[in-house]
Amino acid sequence: MNKIKGIGVSAGYAVGTAVVVKEASYDVASATFTTAEEEKQNLDRAVLVYTEDTNKLIEKLTKEAGTKNAEILQGHLVMLSDPFMLQQMQDQIDSGKPAVQAVDAVCQTFYDMFSSVDDEMMKQRASDIQDIRLSLIEIISGVESTKIEEVPSGTILIAKDFTPSMTSRINKENVVGIIAEVGSVTSHSAILARAIDMPAVLSLPDATEIIKDGDTLGIDGGKGYVYQEPDAETIKLLNNDRQAYLNEKSSLLDFFGKETVTKSGDKRLVYGNIGKPEDVQNVIQNSGEGVGLFRTEFLFMDRPALPSEEEQFEAYSTVAKAMGEKEVIIRTLDIGGDKDVSYLGIPKEDNPFLGFRAIRYCLANPELYKTQLSAIIRAARFGNIKIMIPMVTCVEEVAAVRSLIAECELDLAKRGVQFKENIEVGVMIETPAAVFIADELARCADFFSIGTNDLTGYVMAADRGNANVSNLYDVNKPAVLKAIKTTIETAKRHGISVGMCGEAASDRNLIPTLVEWGLDEFSVTPNAILATRKTISEC
Ligand code: PEP
Ligand code: MG
Repeated sequence: MNKIKGIGVSAGYAVGTAVVVKEASYDVASATFTTAEEEKQNLDRAVLVYTEDTNKLIEKLTKEAGTKNAEILQGHLVMLSDPFMLQQMQDQIDSGKPAVQAVDAVCQTFYDMFSSVDDEMMKQRASDIQDIRLSLIEIISGVESTKIEEVPSGTILIAKDFTPSMTSRINKENVVGIIAEVGSVTSHSAILARAIDMPAVLSLPDATEIIKDGDTLGIDGGKGYVYQEPDAETIKLLNNDRQAYLNEKSSLLDFFGKETVTKSGDKRLVYGNIGKPEDVQNVIQNSGEGVGLFRTEFLFMDRPALPSEEEQFEAYSTVAKAMGEKEVIIRTLDIGGDKDVSYLGIPKEDNPFLGFRAIRYCLANPELYKTQLSAIIRAARFGNIKIMIPMVTCVEEVAAVRSLIAECELDLAKRGVQFKENIEVGVMIETPAAVFIADELARCADFFSIGTNDLTGYVMAADRGNANVSNLYDVNKPAVLKAIKTTIETAKRHGISVGMCGEAASDRNLIPTLVEWGLDEFSVTPNAILATRKTISEC
């Protein structure tokens, strides 16, 4: 047995037989030119056939995965209907090139242009162009690739890359899993695989060479493992895992679109945590009742300079609009600690977790912070946004944030830009200091959210990344539980709402205690929303 690791992009388990997808191997250079008129007719016919085929696939995909996912293929048709692109192909034919070469050359130019930009969206465009190119060449030349729609049942497909049209040709009755050499969690193929609920492992180098047609394969699409010629024991384990996964999944569907209520009828809320605006779709697809933590530092990472007010406004309003009336809690920039943003030039510290972090950094850089606050209060007109302050240790920090918001309001009014007045401001309870002064904080904050990831580390004086003290870094330690209980009780006494956005909010063993203590809102990673709702409903 050979166990190979890739990136798990669509959860689920499967055991099946390998079919390695052969691309149409047509030698474009060998094509001969007939007449310009005939080559243009070939091109027009190919565009027509491609459009008809794609429309059929859109219809199939809409039924299986909804309109949103079919939009990816709709995008191909939009690209191909671009008169500039078609004109370039016709110009190439006029200059004496056969239709296949014209398609190949023009698509290559667009491919080079898109793939040279270091941006995930542009990389997707490049992969879309590749899809169009292969399909058109296949139609014009009549040389076919593997007929994905006709593979036998129990097939696991292996390809260099799954273009969206390849993915949408997959027949779920026959294909039980997919593997590709390239791709990531955000690739279109990954999005489509998740949408049709197909276990998928991407980024498995040389998969099309290592794996041969007819090999028996096992797939764990969540963890990203592929088992080549698995032994009987592994097959048994995969089948058991698959059954358990399917049982759990179908029992969770009962909780989709439902309110979160305990057995005794107490209403609670299950929200989702996000890091990028597009993650909000994950919250919606998992039936989240709000966004309990938008980690905005991700908007500041992996880029050379600060995001502008406009860029931030765009990001925050996208989330607000997507969630409609549902609450969206935007946590202001939480850098420092383990989250480094190199262009900010924060000096190296001996104890970064006790250093120039989060609200401490923001208050020392009021212009940077005001840019973010302005963007948030502007976006708040489009939904139900609230502001949350990270790493609070004293009431003065909350007062300072409120006065900066007031300054932003004045500036925006002067600039004639609209914003929402009286935005609610909440506090993360993630330091022992915040727990000790919870009474004082409750008087100046509109809500609390308990950040158990940091609170556990700070209460236990145990680094979350240090294996030697991992026995102490435990939310179930009495000191941490006492800090959580105190926070909830204090919020209740003051009549403000209290949530939890650390990982502990989805801990099925802890949830009953949190429910009993009166925690109002549980904000969890989106794919844990339904399981959390289920556990609460059993309390
Ligand atoms: C936390 O500390 O619990 C939290 C939610 O914040 P982060 O994990 O982003 O530090
Ligand atoms: Mg934290």
